[in-house]
Amino acid sequence: MDEADVSEYEPRECPREECGIFGVYGCPQAGSLIYEGLFSQQHRGQEGAGIVVSGDKVRSLKGQGLLVEAIDSAAAAALPGEIGVGHVRYSTTGITRVQNVQPLVGETLDGLWAVAHNGNLVNAPQLRRLFQDGGSLFQTGTDSEVLLHLLASPIHRFRPDPIKSACERLRGSYAFLIMSETTLTAVRDPLGFKPLVLGRLGDGWVFASETCALAAVGAEYLREVGPGEIVTAGPDGLRTELLDGAGRRSARCIFELVYFARPDSLVFGHNVHRVRVAYGERLAEERPVDADIVISVPDSGNSSALGYSRRSGVPFDLGFIRSHYVGRTFIMPGANYRAAQVDRKLAPLPEAMKGKRVVVVDDSIVRGNTMRRRVGSLRGSGAKEVHLRIACPPIRHPCYYGIDFPTSDELVAWNRSEAEICELVGADSLGYLSLEGLLSPFGDKDSYCLACFDGEYPIGQGSNSKELLESRKMTT
Ligand code: SF4
Repeated sequence: MDEADVSEYEPRECPREECGIFGVYGCPQAGSLIYEGLFSQQHRGQEGAGIVVSGDKVRSLKGQGLLVEAIDSAAAAALPGEIGVGHVRYSTTGITRVQNVQPLVGETLDGLWAVAHNGNLVNAPQLRRLFQDGGSLFQTGTDSEVLLHLLASPIHRFRPDPIKSACERLRGSYAFLIMSETTLTAVRDPLGFKPLVLGRLGDGWVFASETCALAAVGAEYLREVGPGEIVTAGPDGLRTELLDGAGRRSARCIFELVYFARPDSLVFGHNVHRVRVAYGERLAEERPVDADIVISVPDSGNSSALGYSRRSGVPFDLGFIRSHYVGRTFIMPGANYRAAQVDRKLAPLPEAMKGKRVVVVDDSIVRGNTMRRRVGSLRGSGAKEVHLRIACPPIRHPCYYGIDFPTSDELVAWNRSEAEICELVGADSLGYLSLEGLLSPFGDKDSYCLACFDGEYPIGQGSNSKELLESRKMTT
């Protein structure tokens, strides 16, 4: 790959799409709490943020960029109300419109709904087309907007539970927070791809993508919202029910544990840091190497590097110093400028490296371009040997469920052997964690989605899948 390719994207920041959601019910100062909850989930989305609070009326604040750029904290604190929902967003293209920033708000004959979504609805294009054929106007380019249209549709409005009825029309991955003027409902798709947790704060209820957000507002973690579960907080307390298909099987996104979630969070009942340390330990057993130091690619490689060092006995050292002042490189103008920013973000530490055989532990490799730059910078800093150890198996397949990996032919591991990838990134050796190693920390091994590693998609792949062809027959 040439230098233009190298600088096109920064794999740590661009080609993975996720979102963070947070909501409160029965909590005074809802706006402040949501702001804090979103702040602690900033790693899940940096392109836009929104807060909607229901008090004497429904008010919203939205903007593009990091939370601090998008929303003034004092304005959030001044929102009156005890029910609210918030969202941090990450789009795939780097081109964003403020209209796409969630929560999306829509007024129906039954009142107002505000929707915050984490995931990817694979049948959204078909549903959107059906609504548009019927004359509906869409205000955003997001897949999430179809839920508002479903909630407004007479087919679902007149059902005993419109949210359950509407969600059962959806295919794909979703963790939703859906606010009405008097209730807050959390829904997780039947396979439970995306994390969603429930907490208690005083007499109120809190929902979040990750438990780190509960801790940030002083809420007590109670439990996960289960796959296919609908939990509604309202004046009569909590009410739960299940979507059709709930409990048959689950397909939790294992990439949350590999890369996406914050190390201090509990995701799917597992502490993320502990899982990553276990990956590093297992990697040291599976792929040992004679070396002088172990370093990590900060931040997501830190825990696994620690595990690798502990198990191998090779001392851990700081190999890269991370700048916390480099912005979102993927939206910066010009390929060369972006490349310079990528290099600025992680500066190698020559004093630690000079003359050493170095093991570099990272969570994953996507395109391989950035890894090649990293290896080059380590050699330039005097490392005698550079051995890459990756705390997950090769990513060979795209994700259709909300993590924005590139297409197969852009993935460095697609149709390449480990030796070929090693040569491409310029390392002395390369070792990935095995699929068995990836599942080794868990008792519930069948309950994870592994599609980006093994190509076994739990619910089809997209517009060519059987699932989606069938979904076109659906009425709304
Ligand atoms: S394909 Fe990979 S990234 Fe996508 S949901 Fe499955 S495990 Fe997660």
